[in-house]
Amino acid sequence: MDPKDEIKAKLDIVAVIGEYLELKPAGMHGFRALCPFHAEKSASFHVSSDRQIFHCFGCGEGGDIFTFVQKMEGMDFPEVLMHLGQKAGVEIKRFSTTEGNTKQRLMGIHELATSFYKKVLSSSSGSHVAREYLANRGITSELIDRFEIGFAPDDWSMLSDALLKRGFSEAELVQAGLSIKKKSGIGVLDRFRARIMIPLRDQHGNTVGFTGRQLPGADSNMGKYVNSPETLIYHKGRLVYGLDLAKRAIKDHKCLIIMEGNLDVVASNKIGVQHVVASSGTALTQEQLELIKRYTDTVVFCFDRDAAGLTAAKKGVTIARSLSFDVRAISLPTDVKDPDDLVQKNPEVWKKLSNESIPFMQYLFDRTLFSRDISNVDHKRLISQELLPAISEISDVVEREHWLAKLASLLNIDLAILRTAIHPKLEKSVIKTNTNSVHPIKLGKKDQVLLVLIGSILNDELNRDYVRKQLELTVIDHEQIANLYKFLEETYTSDIETAKTKSFFAKARNLLQSDPSKETLLSLLDQSSLIAEQQFENLSPASCLTQLNTLFETLHATDRQSKRSILAQKLRQAEDAGDVEAVNKLLSELN
Ligand SMILES: [Zn+2]
Repeated sequence: MDPKDEIKAKLDIVAVIGEYLELKPAGMHGFRALCPFHAEKSASFHVSSDRQIFHCFGCGEGGDIFTFVQKMEGMDFPEVLMHLGQKAGVEIKRFSTTEGNTKQRLMGIHELATSFYKKVLSSSSGSHVAREYLANRGITSELIDRFEIGFAPDDWSMLSDALLKRGFSEAELVQAGLSIKKKSGIGVLDRFRARIMIPLRDQHGNTVGFTGRQLPGADSNMGKYVNSPETLIYHKGRLVYGLDLAKRAIKDHKCLIIMEGNLDVVASNKIGVQHVVASSGTALTQEQLELIKRYTDTVVFCFDRDAAGLTAAKKGVTIARSLSFDVRAISLPTDVKDPDDLVQKNPEVWKKLSNESIPFMQYLFDRTLFSRDISNVDHKRLISQELLPAISEISDVVEREHWLAKLASLLNIDLAILRTAIHPKLEKSVIKTNTNSVHPIKLGKKDQVLLVLIGSILNDELNRDYVRKQLELTVIDHEQIANLYKFLEETYTSDIETAKTKSFFAKARNLLQSDPSKETLLSLLDQSSLIAEQQFENLSPASCLTQLNTLFETLHATDRQSKRSILAQKLRQAEDAGDVEAVNKLLSELN
């Protein structure tokens, strides 16, 4: 069996998608969820266990298990094959593409480097300062294991030498970002020396880069933190630190806490608060938030108490709102710097606070009002300058009005005046997302009926012939639907054996899938099959037939109606042109 088919046979699309989304049963074999590919409030994302496909009626995204994981994980096809192959226990031969190969080798280098640094930390005599430092910060051996923390020895080329011995080339080590070419041009040096090494892992747990932290007291012009450069496998703006370990806890808590520093994440894990990640010290990017969106719709910001922390948080909040996240915040006590600090001083308070998030606007109000005097006109102006832009970003009208009213009563200003102050900004604040996604095909009533009928040809082998015989191609004006029907007829007549069985759907789908130029038809095929599945579910064979006949009646009635309106239009044109002969002819046709 082709490994792709083998994976399909072993993995159920409902189970795989269920790991990412909360699926609610819809009918006997169907499930529904909020679409992860576009922002929506009611579920138009459908999964069919019978057909092993998904389709979103809102944005048009759809496909099989491979398409889903590809889109969710941002993987290319060979990567999905490896990923799902592992899940299904199907052995997949290594990547055949050169880029895939290089990526695999770079990950291999990082895996070896991680164990190298770990070993140095635990057993080298030169790393006792690092061990002491970690112990002082309360980073236990369990945490060191969980985050695979290590130490880069104070040596020019110890890691490079070890990796070269394992058969990697100098060029590969440089490409991985772990070695630097010597100025002389001959040989390489280690990039990280005498630093505590924190592996940066992607959401699957693969190490793709490192952060190296200087030991206290070391030469300060080298920078406290040194990070891996951007490589083929490490993109700073795409990595969410700690996500690989947070996934399970996100499901339990239905939200994710975003902090600034990687060590905040480590500290929080120490006391079992595991639904935490770090933005690695910068403002969150759209890519990071899109990645997070695969796992939850609620983000809780917990940034440092300084002004830089708030600025970073605000940028992240703007993007998060545009991606329809529910945005909340945790307010740290005034006497601590960051979550790490809090865990060290008072772990129980952090445990409690992690469950007590407040709406982000509430947080912003509290912070803006802190140490300000509402009776002072200058303060009033500052308060409104800080809060109005944030309020204007809220897309939900009810929520926006709520905060606007709160601000109005606080400043004692007429609500209507404040409303006009934010109005011009409203449209601008909506950031367009998913620019490359497909669009749903917009259909009129007649076309929808046609899709159900075509869907019943696909799904229902008992009535397949009955529908085919009655459905005339000439009734279909919609070009793509007509093409789909033509294609199905060809598929039917080319292999009557299969056409009589349940496998007809899979056969037609595979044929369309193997031809990239037929992507639109594939999407239509999935749509019609899913619509029909919903319409005919739980119906007895007799009621199925009644339902089909009703559909045909509707189809013919709408068809007559549309033909009549075309005639009427022509009649008006003929009347305007004074063409008596044409008018008489059209009149007789209309009657
Ligand atoms: Zn969608």
